[in-house]
Amino acid sequence: MKHEELNKIVEKISKDFKILVADDSALVRKIIKKYLENNGFNVIDAKDGKEAWEKFKKFKDEIGVVVLDWIMPELDGLEVCRLIRNLDLDRYVYIIFLSSVEDRDKVAICFEHGADDYIFKPVNQKEFLARVKAGLRIIALEKLLIEANEKLEKLAIIDELTQVLNRRGLFEELKKLVNYMSRVKKDIYFIMIDIDHFKKINDTYGHQVGDLVLKEVAKRLKTNLRSYDIIGRYGGEEFLVALTDGNDKVAYKVAEKLRKIIEEKPIKVNDNLELKVTISVGVSALRAEDLPNIPTNEIIEEKIKNAIKLADEALYKAKKEGRNKVVAANLNI
Ligand code: GH3
Ligand code: MG
Ligand code: MG
Repeated sequence: MKHEELNKIVEKISKDFKILVADDSALVRKIIKKYLENNGFNVIDAKDGKEAWEKFKKFKDEIGVVVLDWIMPELDGLEVCRLIRNLDLDRYVYIIFLSSVEDRDKVAICFEHGADDYIFKPVNQKEFLARVKAGLRIIALEKLLIEANEKLEKLAIIDELTQVLNRRGLFEELKKLVNYMSRVKKDIYFIMIDIDHFKKINDTYGHQVGDLVLKEVAKRLKTNLRSYDIIGRYGGEEFLVALTDGNDKVAYKVAEKLRKIIEEKPIKVNDNLELKVTISVGVSALRAEDLPNIPTNEIIEEKIKNAIKLADEALYKAKKEGRNKVVAANLNI
């Protein structure tokens, strides 16, 4: 990014953030406050470290830069800096020290405790402003990073743990599929899968082992499906599969095959631990005849919801009937 572009962002965010200025000298406070305000900044001031800390806690969501005098009554600047850095904030706060302490070793201590900059008194106003703006550049860069991450998260359709579609990806794919199948007039089968007594695995062996089991179950399911079948993580330990070719009998057989390939071979956690895992399965059909030729988005979503509900009810029945079982909802088998 060009320096100019970044500076534009800095200019914009300088209005969103406040600057906290703590100095026990009323004169210094007044000069800095006035100077910053004349340059378009919002300033909160504090007459000592204690007040600075109180105000920081109160306005922490609004403060971008903190200017701390080192030597102040009550709490000194270093202590305030330490307190701020001990907080688990969602955003970075840029901390500038302002001091006439000329012992260079002491300057190093400030940086070690989380200071980002150190300005010697007497303050040159132009230099001071430039340094505050340099601080805001860091804040602006972090803001850009957070926004980029949020965008990526929205785009993500793969579940990080199991590497199958996540819920969002699953619904996107299902919507496309239902749209297509309504045109070619073919049924779609929904297979809802839930790991049996999964909570017990977590409780007995820990979450990491639980995660490993989830990964292995997803892997086995995926490798036993065709590349054009849809599989996604519907919830915590629930997977949803959608099949497009075949008929009621085939769909049931596939569900039964999936159940078997989990039951058949215990999941190896390590050399000393192998876990017997089973799944319960519910199957439903979304009939092409129930779909209009050109379905609207609302109709597609409603039909998917209904088919999932049917599969879910069948799954519930499989659980009630003892687990490790396939139950079909509206299939002729
Ligand atoms: P049932 O046979 O009736 O399905 O019993 P269950 O214990 O499998 O079902 P329950 O819904 O009570 O428990 C599901 C558990 O799955 C609870 C939750 O903590 C766990 N879980 C959800 N997501 C994850 C995950 O990503 N990793 C791990 N390790 N556990 C998860
Ligand atoms: Mg469950
Ligand atoms: Mg379960």
